[in-house]
Amino acid sequence: MKHKLEEIKNYFVEELEKAQNDADLKNLEINTIWKAGRLNEILKGLKDLDVEAKKEIWVEANSLKNFILDNIEIKREELAKKAFSEIEESEKLDVSLEFPSKDKGHMHPLSITSKLLEDIFISLGFKIEDGPQIEKEEYNFDKLNIPDNHPARDVWDTFWLSDDINSSKESGEKLLLRTHTSPVQVRTMLSQELPLKIIVPWRVFRFEQEDARHTSNFYQLEWLVVWEGVSFWDLKWTLDTVMKKLLWDDTVIRFRPSIFPFTEPSAEIDVQCKLCQGKWCRMCSGSGWVELLWAWMVHPKVLADCGVDPEKYSGFAFWMWIDRIASQRFSVSSSRLFYQSKLKLNEQF
Ligand SMILES: [Zn+2]
Repeated sequence: MKHKLEEIKNYFVEELEKAQNDADLKNLEINTIWKAGRLNEILKGLKDLDVEAKKEIWVEANSLKNFILDNIEIKREELAKKAFSEIEESEKLDVSLEFPSKDKGHMHPLSITSKLLEDIFISLGFKIEDGPQIEKEEYNFDKLNIPDNHPARDVWDTFWLSDDINSSKESGEKLLLRTHTSPVQVRTMLSQELPLKIIVPWRVFRFEQEDARHTSNFYQLEWLVVWEGVSFWDLKWTLDTVMKKLLWDDTVIRFRPSIFPFTEPSAEIDVQCKLCQGKWCRMCSGSGWVELLWAWMVHPKVLADCGVDPEKYSGFAFWMWIDRIASQRFSVSSSRLFYQSKLKLNEQF
């Protein structure tokens, strides 16, 4: 009988080695220690033995049963661990891997230029102001000394909003897409304490014939200083400082006298074309110069209309074309390219 117990043990060890999964283990358990199993078959013969032999075989059979149960449990844990590591291997995901750089987003060249300008002005103590892109005629023109029927309005080909769209307007008020950032000057002078040092970046709209320098919406940056006793000298010093920080050291700048209705005196400021070094390209139309800024002393009437005492305060202001500055900085031959969502262009910067 002992010999048979030994056989069962050997059978069990052999089959346990072959077991691949839970089902195999369950079958092995059934075949060995369950009611119809091999061990039970042997125990059925116990009745023919004497008491001592019965006792001895009973103890050994129990010990074999425990051996089988313990080893099935150990094998079950081993198989579970193995299955888990196989899943782990097949579904491996290394979250520390670097994201492919070609899929990274980045700033648009106009945003890069605008951010650079904002940083320069903030370092000089300017505050950033913003205003609505749909503007009142009063702020876009009237309060800037450009009343209705003034010929200067022709300079700005304006997108007017139809009365159907303007359902929220006040009686007699006309709305438009702002043609420049100057309405924010008016809004700021009317609402804030003096003195003022502000910049107004962002989008304006003109009904323009598009070419290398002109687009129907573009990005402007305006700056305004209203202070006691500021003069054209302060204007030139500020411009010089900003241009040195913004463009390259050997930039050649020229001032041309100009006249705007809301200014006195005023100048247009050109830089020598970086794209063709003053020879010929589409950006400068062969002149060798690109108009980047308008600069002016604020007209006393504009100050008075905005509630500022022109006897006490004076002011100066600039407009610059962010698009044209970006073209010069990045050597892009036409401002229009910035609005055409061309990844090939944008990814270079
Ligand atoms: Zn040029």
